[in-house]
Amino acid sequence: MDEIDQATVIESRLKEAARQIHAARYLTAFTGAGISVESGIPPFRGEGGIWNRYDPSILDLAVFMRHPERSWPVIKEMFTSFLGTEDRTPVAPNAAHRVLARWEKEGRLKSLITQNIDGLHEAAGSRTLVEFHGHCRSLTCLTCGRALPLTADTTAADIPRCPCGGLLKPDFVFFGEGIPPAALADSNDVASRTDCMILVGTSGVVYPAAAVPLLAKRNGAVVIEINPGPTEYTRRMVDVFLPMKAGEAFERLDEMVLSIAESRA
Ligand SMILES: [Zn+2]
Repeated sequence: MDEIDQATVIESRLKEAARQIHAARYLTAFTGAGISVESGIPPFRGEGGIWNRYDPSILDLAVFMRHPERSWPVIKEMFTSFLGTEDRTPVAPNAAHRVLARWEKEGRLKSLITQNIDGLHEAAGSRTLVEFHGHCRSLTCLTCGRALPLTADTTAADIPRCPCGGLLKPDFVFFGEGIPPAALADSNDVASRTDCMILVGTSGVVYPAAAVPLLAKRNGAVVIEINPGPTEYTRRMVDVFLPMKAGEAFERLDEMVLSIAESRA
């Protein structure tokens, strides 16, 4: 396809996606690391990614419990990339996060499932949020179960510890650790209710998260995918594929949905 054809195809797909979004009775979204790339958060996988420089097993729960001194430098690097530091601008939500948060406020988006632990959906104002892989807001003591908020103080030590002396584990899901039961139950519930799910910035390779859109599809949902290139999902189950950056796609969809709504008012 030449460029003009490609642009025409994308334009007609955008229109179809906007039509489906406007018609949906239970619109949901399922997001992954790709939605935050435009906010300046480096993807974990691929060039420059954290897993190019560290062995992922360093965030295995068993390794963390035995060798916290190996895991903590990576954890701190993750926190820094999400929260920014004094010499680095804190990361901020981009247009994709903002449109999703506003659609929720307007009652258009019923639920948002994210695999991200960067806190950007929350920062944008999303509240009906299922955090599939936990979050970075707090740490839990592996000895007494006490939860402490994440602050610069909590992570000042080489190996942060609870006042009881126990090891503090950040509340995001480690490798070898189960998905929080409430998050699993909530995402199954969302996947069984939704009639239109937008996949954003996720490639369908990390299980069990990757199964959520499959469940939605099996239950009859229309699936819209926004990713720069095709993924595991694209050919298998996607109804409308938008090969675009997330922020740009959501800005266009937002305009188009609004103009459909106005034309029918
Ligand atoms: Zn403790």
